[in-house]
Amino acid sequence: MSVLRFAATAAALVALGFAAFNAPPRAQAQEKAQEKGQEKAQEKAKRPQIQTTKVDGTDNVYIFRNGNHQAMFVVTKQGVIATDPVAYGRPTGGADYIAEIRKITQAPIRYLIYSHHHFDHIAGGKAFKDAGAQIIAHKNAKKRLAAVNDPNTPMPDRYVGDNTTINLGGTALELRYLGLNHSDTTLVMRLPREKIIFIVDTIPVGTVPGRGMIDMYPIETEAFMKRVLAMDWERLIPGHPGQPNDRLGTKKDVEDQLKLLQVASAEGKRLGQAGRCWEPGEKEFKLEGYENWPGYAAGLPFIARRYCGLWGRGT
Ligand SMILES: [Zn+2]
Repeated sequence: MSVLRFAATAAALVALGFAAFNAPPRAQAQEKAQEKGQEKAQEKAKRPQIQTTKVDGTDNVYIFRNGNHQAMFVVTKQGVIATDPVAYGRPTGGADYIAEIRKITQAPIRYLIYSHHHFDHIAGGKAFKDAGAQIIAHKNAKKRLAAVNDPNTPMPDRYVGDNTTINLGGTALELRYLGLNHSDTTLVMRLPREKIIFIVDTIPVGTVPGRGMIDMYPIETEAFMKRVLAMDWERLIPGHPGQPNDRLGTKKDVEDQLKLLQVASAEGKRLGQAGRCWEPGEKEFKLEGYENWPGYAAGLPFIARRYCGLWGRGT
């Protein structure tokens, strides 16, 4: 470094230091938050929109991710079992998903299983139907999907009850309905040999739940989580990438989410029964111990709304 350049750099550093010294703490915090936001945006920009990864330790289980949504698919010699097209607002999403499958196998796509009836996960199934896949959903999804009749979401071809196993090419995939939770249509999908489960939305991995709280069933979801904990599995694939680093979940993550809901419910009960819901209870609502979790600030209003609804209104 030349002397001149060193002098200029030193002067710049002094100026920066001086500016930082003079800036009020709030402005400094804002700057820091801005920097952090920029870093996050840069990180996101580096990430491809679409990505397919094989689940470690398996030879046939994959995760297809499109943006912030993801789905599991299983490849067997006799065909592919796919789940959730995750193509809401992504007109080519279904075809993109199939193109990713085709990079791995030319085997027919035999099934497309809807995890639950929400369009952000199941819109985009037409490409699968055109490819010859049979679309499967829980029986409760029938009336919901028929009532709304979304043009981007084909109706299922087959409805299952509370306990069905799909067998294909030596792979078994159990489809279980374990009661009300984030929806009344959620299928818990379990690969017994691989000890992997795929559960969408109800049990976020490493993040505070957010918008998905608006129509969930708070009391029943706690029972649902206990039933999930009682099942035999080791890794959980969530419907949105786990935090940090897209990780999969463990039983500890389910226990953490159950505890989070219990803390939220206790807070809602305290405020609701004191007559403070909706206002000012929703503003006072805190989730103690979870302040540093990803999604806290964004998720808190939805959690407060749901539990103020339960304890301040009775629904
Ligand atoms: Zn959902």
